[in-house]
Amino acid sequence: MQSPPEVLPAAAPVVQSPLEVLPAAAPVVQRPLEALLAARPVVILDGALATELTRRGADLLDPLWSAKTLVEQPGLIRAVHLDYFQAGADVATTATYQATFEGFQRRGMDRDAAAQLMRSAVRLAMEAREEFWAVPANREGRLRPLVAASIGPFGAMLADGSEYRGHYALSDDQLRDFHRPRFEVLARSGADLLAFETIPCLREALIQDGSRNCEGEDIGACASALQPYSLIAAIGMNCTHPEFVESLLRRMREHTGKPLLAYPNSGENYDAAAKVWRGNPHLRSFADQSRSWYDAGARVLGGCCRTTPQDIKAIYATYGVQHLSP
Ligand SMILES: [Zn+2]
Repeated sequence: MQSPPEVLPAAAPVVQSPLEVLPAAAPVVQRPLEALLAARPVVILDGALATELTRRGADLLDPLWSAKTLVEQPGLIRAVHLDYFQAGADVATTATYQATFEGFQRRGMDRDAAAQLMRSAVRLAMEAREEFWAVPANREGRLRPLVAASIGPFGAMLADGSEYRGHYALSDDQLRDFHRPRFEVLARSGADLLAFETIPCLREALIQDGSRNCEGEDIGACASALQPYSLIAAIGMNCTHPEFVESLLRRMREHTGKPLLAYPNSGENYDAAAKVWRGNPHLRSFADQSRSWYDAGARVLGGCCRTTPQDIKAIYATYGVQHLSP
């Protein structure tokens, strides 16, 4: 059985302890997501960054998308991260999804400047976390949140919606050459996790880990294939329609023992040509729908495009440790 096309950008592995995979590894290897999962019934991710920036007035009609704001309005990114922590998010995802050497080069930035911007995105999330954590009342019932450095797929750099289609006609070497330099910058950026988001095919997900060509589209097969990689802390799907999430999770659960994550979009569809979201959000509230994702095995929950701090607040109200009966 193949997944419907809407759910192809589905394999979204989260790699923990990014330094562990680099030759110059730091001596201390932590497994921060595992630690959170051991202490919490559900780890709560943040919601949308880019569409939330737009909602607050940022103009992202640009091939750099949310990375444009890194250059122009870094304070706004920091404010959105802070709002998500306050809404209950245990993890902030940085504004690096569409931040690539290629994209910044098109703006006349050299590699050093591009790497600086990527690092600055991680710093903004870390600053927001420290600001949040510095207030004693914020720490009540909470664990110190994590920062996940977002790594978008090759298709995100093309800025034409390719990440929802895949099939880039690139060799494994070309995909690896695209990912490696940014991976190395972000792995050394101080982020706690690397979040590979909206990866449209298993082949690209595997290349992140230095393995070989193994393209496949069935989500169960994707889960099986990612199972052996001990550095992958959790797998699941993002930016898909909420209605597909439960069945995708159930299929993945049959093939993996790894923690499952789900952070779908609001249920609207992205029109890549016009660069706008069309349609209506799913009628049931996000937190309400998330119960079926929890029942299907997901323990890391959040939102992708068009979700807001209100959605995360509702998830926190449902799954925050003080709200969940044993
Ligand atoms: Zn999204």
